[in-house]
Amino acid sequence: MYDVAIIGGGPAGLTAALYSARYGLKTVFFETVDPVSQLSLAAKIENYPGFEGNGMELLEKMKEQAVNAGAEWKMEKVEKVEKTGDTFTVITESGEYEARSIIVATGGKHREAGIEGENAFIGRGVSYCATCDGNFFRGKKVIVYGSGKEAIEDAIYLHDIGCEVVVISRTPSLRAEKALIDELEKRQIKVLTSTTIRKIIGPGKVEKVLVYSREEKEEYEIEADGLFIAIGMRPATDVVAELGVERDHMGYIRVDKEQRTNIKGVFAAGDCCDNPLKQVVTACGDGAVAASSAYRYLTEGLDF
Ligand SMILES: Cc1cc2nc3c(=O)[nH]c(=O)nc-3n(C[C@H](O)[C@H](O)[C@H](O)COP(=O)(O)OP(=O)(O)OC[C@H]3O[C@@H](n4cnc5c(N)ncnc54)[C@H](O)[C@@H]3O)c2cc1C
Repeated sequence: MYDVAIIGGGPAGLTAALYSARYGLKTVFFETVDPVSQLSLAAKIENYPGFEGNGMELLEKMKEQAVNAGAEWKMEKVEKVEKTGDTFTVITESGEYEARSIIVATGGKHREAGIEGENAFIGRGVSYCATCDGNFFRGKKVIVYGSGKEAIEDAIYLHDIGCEVVVISRTPSLRAEKALIDELEKRQIKVLTSTTIRKIIGPGKVEKVLVYSREEKEEYEIEADGLFIAIGMRPATDVVAELGVERDHMGYIRVDKEQRTNIKGVFAAGDCCDNPLKQVVTACGDGAVAASSAYRYLTEGLDF
């Protein structure tokens, strides 16, 4: 019987594991490769205080620290969680584990754009991860589809490794911090706003996309070898749907200031929650609060 079972081995889950183990609670955390921690996909982290470098490097340091503190690490996909009385059963692809409390820190994965041909061209020019696939497109024409931080960072990265980049944004302007937009402009990366990609054209691999400009009110084709879709994420919260954990219309888990969900003994942290900022630093903060709340729930009966 574990005191705390944490679903997730990203910044939120690993911080929760570190704090929970240091509280002296018997702690286990689970992670999987689909979805993988988003931090592992970040080529460069410059806004996590005290650290500058590759996302994977930061993730490995966090994991090592949690394991050294006494948390158990299991590379097993959690399929569902059941509750009987005050005890939870975590059911994974290869086993069952009992726990007195649960912290959900499952993050999420890329969102699909719903473009005609999108699924058919995955791996044949369509990608959701510039860091993973950018290298295949050096010296080639690529489109980044999106308007937020992730899209702009992808565009800068792809430009810097030698791709010819165009950003296509459905919104009338880009939605990211000024410093990042300045970097885009400095590189003279072309941006098409108020434009929707309607179709991906092959046949064998991506060769063109059909776009519609709302400003010009016309449809036209753009040649491209690659299409990087960067329009945000879908939270990986189905794993606690049967348990009755309350989620918003996008699937994000509703939490209060103590990271409590509507189910007694179930807490949530990080990008899977309905929090306003989705970053490493906020995920870590959520994880620490969730572990503290779990500790108080287990030792003092912290209730609703
Ligand atoms: C390309 C990219 C660049 C980024 N750059 C920055 C940046 O510069 N600065 C910044 O602060 N943030 C950045 N972010 C965002 C940051 O990575 C996330 O906010 C952060 O990783 C969220 O942490 P998390 O622990 O909530 O979720 P995640 O890191 O996504 O971790 C989720 C964990 O849950 C596990 N999991 C999910 N479902 C299950 C299941 N059913 N069973 C078992 N395990 C499961 C996953 O395997 C993973 O270990 C970037 C993200 C991306 C994609």
